[in-house]
Amino acid sequence: MSSGNYLLIVLLALAAAYAIFRIVAVSRLYFRFRGKRIVSCPETRKAAAVRVSAGKAALEATVHTPQLRLSECSRWPEREACGQECLAQIQEAPKACLVWTIINRWYQGQECVYCHKPFGEIHWHDHPPALLNKERKTVQWNEIPAENLQAALGTHRPVCWSCHMAETVRREHPELVVDRTSSPLRMNLYH
Ligand SMILES: [Zn+2]
Repeated sequence: MSSGNYLLIVLLALAAAYAIFRIVAVSRLYFRFRGKRIVSCPETRKAAAVRVSAGKAALEATVHTPQLRLSECSRWPEREACGQECLAQIQEAPKACLVWTIINRWYQGQECVYCHKPFGEIHWHDHPPALLNKERKTVQWNEIPAENLQAALGTHRPVCWSCHMAETVRREHPELVVDRTSSPLRMNLYH
């Protein structure tokens, strides 16, 4: 093989290595910034739920250093023209302000208010845990607007998926539940 061919192979290998390096960097950026987050709005000092345009930032990163921007905020459309100063909080601690991180941390070390089973690792795609609100109704996380999350963590109590299902049946189909008066779960909670 001539030295020209060797050079070509080396150059192609370098180009491939660089392309892989860029793809890894871009996907890391995407995964770091995707998802709904809770920030403290610099204007109101209150919680706001936001999303970063992670896909756009990742696309930009293929050609130059990306500039993070929001794609959603619970204060929009009224405050859509704000300076998005909250992005500094996200850049400083991208994982800590993720909704799932905040909720996961809240469950750890707690137990279900009905069956007292402790919460281990949470699998959100399969049997996600729920909450008991002040009206003593079990609700799922997606029923609570993310900007109200912090308040919900202070007033709601943790419920496992099985107990949430059982309570939902009790509430929506009381005719199907035979023993409604002496449930030990209710006794534990309310007495
Ligand atoms: Zn339970």
